[in-house]
Amino acid sequence: MLLSIVIPCYNEEEVLSESINRLQLLHASLKSKYKEFDSELIFVNDGSKDRTLEILLSKHDEIPKIKVINFSRNFGHQIAVTAGMDAANGDAIVLIDSDLQDPPEVVEQMVELWHKGYDVIYATRTRRPGETKFKKLTAACFYRILNLLSDTPIPLDTGDFRLMDRAVVDCINAMPEKERFVRGMVSWVGFKQISLPYERAERFAGKSKYPLIKMLSFALIGILSFSIKPLKLASLLGIFSSLFAICGFIYVVYSKFIDGNVISGWTSLMLSLFFIGGVQLFCIGLLGEYIGRIYIGTKNRPLYVVDSYYGFDKINKTRSPVRKFK
Ligand code: UDP
Ligand code: MG
Repeated sequence: MLLSIVIPCYNEEEVLSESINRLQLLHASLKSKYKEFDSELIFVNDGSKDRTLEILLSKHDEIPKIKVINFSRNFGHQIAVTAGMDAANGDAIVLIDSDLQDPPEVVEQMVELWHKGYDVIYATRTRRPGETKFKKLTAACFYRILNLLSDTPIPLDTGDFRLMDRAVVDCINAMPEKERFVRGMVSWVGFKQISLPYERAERFAGKSKYPLIKMLSFALIGILSFSIKPLKLASLLGIFSSLFAICGFIYVVYSKFIDGNVISGWTSLMLSLFFIGGVQLFCIGLLGEYIGRIYIGTKNRPLYVVDSYYGFDKINKTRSPVRKFK
């Protein structure tokens, strides 16, 4: 039994040594429980500008089960996770953050559930200490709106921290889409999935690599790639404003011919002008969001470019045109 653990890293020099220690402890504990257990730790360096790669390579020299995928630049968290899942050779694959917010010890419970026959064990956050009220509130709203819009039910308050069976990962690796919202894709695949509640820890060191703007774009990818309901919003708004216009028409005709009370209504004219203009621009913008994504999709560029793979005898799959093995 081989367990592949995929760890995306972006400027994480402060946390890496500790993460590796904790993952080593996890390996030792699992090894004592299960005969013929082995693990590979796949670190994806997502274009870090600090000493992340240096630290990873020195650890790789020391510990052979540490493997490194070094991206040619920063491609983002979801793409880093994808590259790790592509390359992984394990019978089960775990996704975990490098900052120790997802405690590696929880993986032991995941492995137990996997042995009981579950294909996906996703960790649901019961508490998120050390995160701002703003982040908690926006995250809570996001998962609920996403679920309302998406046809695939996506578990609430659940990040990418999870264990997946080989079969699930093979399905996801076969999906060519460019906009990747991994947790949603896993839900879409199906199989036997179960939630494992856990308390999220505080970041061990360093700062979050998800500033507000990245969070918003991540949320948009989630919603737009899992729902076309926003497109229907345009028709709904159209129907409502037409109904409104019919009522207005009746009122205007009544005022003119029956009441005889016509006033020069500059204010109402301007207000309705702004309202209709706003609704139209919003709908055009929405169309643009989808069309832009279709445009990027049709260019069919590789999802990521790998500078080098370190420590791999073989890789399951790669989407990178460059395949240097060191
Ligand atoms: N990360 C990455 N590429 C990025 C941003 C983040 O590989 O462009 C990694 C980061 O190193 C960490 C994980 O993704 O291991 C989650 O990021 P972070 O902890 O900053 O997000 P938060 O927990 O604050 O949502
Ligand atoms: Mg974090």
